[in-house]
Amino acid sequence: MSEPEGSRKYGEIVRLALERGFFMPSCEIYGDAPAGFWDYGPLGVDLKRKFIEFWRRELVKRDGMLEIDGSQVLSKKVFQASGHLESFVDPIAKCEQCRAIYRLDKLIEEKTGIHVPERMNLEEMKRLIEEHDIKCGKCGGKLIDLSHFNMMFRLGVGVIGADAYLRPETCQNIFIDFLRIHKTMRRNLPFAIAQVGKSFRNEISPRQGLLRMREFYQAEIEVFFNPKKANEFPKADPMMDYELRLKPLGRDETIEITCKEALDSGLISSRLIAYYLSLIQQFYEKAGISREKIRLRQLGDDEKAFYAVEAWDLEVETSLGWIELVACNNRGGHDLGGHQRFSGHEMEVLDDGEKVLPHVFELSMGVDRSIYCILENALDLEGGKPVLRLPPHFAPIEVAVLPLLSKEPFTSKAREIYEMLKLDFDVEYDESGSIGRRYLRFDEVGVPICITIDHQTLEDDTVTLRFRDSSMQLRVDLGELAETIKNHLG
Ligand SMILES: [Zn+2]
Repeated sequence: MSEPEGSRKYGEIVRLALERGFFMPSCEIYGDAPAGFWDYGPLGVDLKRKFIEFWRRELVKRDGMLEIDGSQVLSKKVFQASGHLESFVDPIAKCEQCRAIYRLDKLIEEKTGIHVPERMNLEEMKRLIEEHDIKCGKCGGKLIDLSHFNMMFRLGVGVIGADAYLRPETCQNIFIDFLRIHKTMRRNLPFAIAQVGKSFRNEISPRQGLLRMREFYQAEIEVFFNPKKANEFPKADPMMDYELRLKPLGRDETIEITCKEALDSGLISSRLIAYYLSLIQQFYEKAGISREKIRLRQLGDDEKAFYAVEAWDLEVETSLGWIELVACNNRGGHDLGGHQRFSGHEMEVLDDGEKVLPHVFELSMGVDRSIYCILENALDLEGGKPVLRLPPHFAPIEVAVLPLLSKEPFTSKAREIYEMLKLDFDVEYDESGSIGRRYLRFDEVGVPICITIDHQTLEDDTVTLRFRDSSMQLRVDLGELAETIKNHLG
């Protein structure tokens, strides 16, 4: 946020979001609205739907994954087995005087510049607080009651209020359903199960709109594989020359390296993982983010999630810095092993006659964050007036239908054209204000094509198409309109 251009872009996205109906704070008319909850408005819903469809096409379908849609409320045992009850915690401390609560690791980092791993124990943090004389930022009071705060939302189910939790990650459904899916869908290892849906985390300090929320969308993919065969993965063959952008542990710069080189040098442990890392990097390239703004950063032991044995974060560079969009974790046998132990159900399956407990590699995507990055990436402030250069397949409104003047017979003719297109495209009709102002309004929300109904339309049934990115204008016969639009949208 230090450079002005950066904060300007973030501010502009927030303004657009609020003024044009992409997203808005939840419960905003009430003073007791908790932070970290956001609503998608009409344009945001369309953008999110298109993003998820893109995820489905480019990952789920491309790879032949199976998709499920699981419950958001899960029993306590699930999280005993997954380790979340014990380990999904943040260290906190309270001010003795004003009772302000601080996230301890972040506070110490902010005050001292020392990197504090999430897993540092409380004793160690206490020592740092004393050594650096860290006090409450609001009143200067002493920090007390150091403890771990569990970030899951607890619920009471039924009249007795049985303990249950809102899922903090969507993947737990996938692990619990694994046995049945494996059996009913008749898949052999390796195969992947995907799910998109909401997750809930009681963040101590939610911030920056869609970037850190308490209720958010995840699109998760869990690949189940035989750990002895992670290198026997023919699907990876065509990817061997693909160049990954990796930021290995201990290196300051991002390197471009082919999958083959990354495997030969031991940077990536298996062909299966190299393949899925390639797939996810390609996903964001296809989403319109330029290669130099994408990297896969390797995480060290102090940064990895508690269940991960090997972890890469796919990050995208924005005006706010690098933002983590996808956690790519080798979760090993943690998940199925844990559920096997706690449920008493055997999670081992047959692979070529051999019984194995599948390991899991995951691509855990933050949908809302991805949407922020796509919006920021598309925002062009060069010409003074903001233009959202969204790829056509993400545009919430594909076509705007505009009568040149807001009077008859232009309006009737324009409405007729709107009716003709509305079931096949995402169309908006608008007759208010000058035509120039309307073009700007639609540029601002990323509409790729505006159709103008003018004097000539009334004479010969042709309309003018104006394309957002080229500002080129094209005269088209109404009989060819739908086909022309379809071709341009691609
Ligand atoms: Zn205080």
